[in-house]
Amino acid sequence: MMSAPIPVGISACLLGAPVRFDGWHKRFDFAVDQLAPYCHFQPVCPEMAVLLPVPRPALRLVNAGKQGIRLCASNGSGIDVTDEILAFSEQKMASLSDLCGFILCAKSPSCGMERVKVYGS
Ligand code: SF4
Repeated sequence: MMSAPIPVGISACLLGAPVRFDGWHKRFDFAVDQLAPYCHFQPVCPEMAVLLPVPRPALRLVNAGKQGIRLCASNGSGIDVTDEILAFSEQKMASLSDLCGFILCAKSPSCGMERVKVYGS
């Protein structure tokens, strides 16, 4: 008997969705081809969720001193989406409590969990 698929969150670009800043994806073949039959993937793209367009300026983490680490556009336009992304994350977390795991896009300033470069520090 096949057991129920495992609920797993995943950065949407890893599933092949063209949601990256440059209009491309970052398909993670192992997840899409090998894990998909066993998992119920719940894709999340925080940048799309706060209505950033595609394409859009790449974002980066910036050490803003007393204001802490901010999530800003890398093109010097002054765009700062820290508050929007944090608000989205707070609200989204409640609906993710049933997940057994999460596959996050490495090094992403929005999704990355570690090894994310912080500029100006
Ligand atoms: S915010 Fe996350 S899901 Fe969206 S494109 Fe960037 S790494 Fe992928």
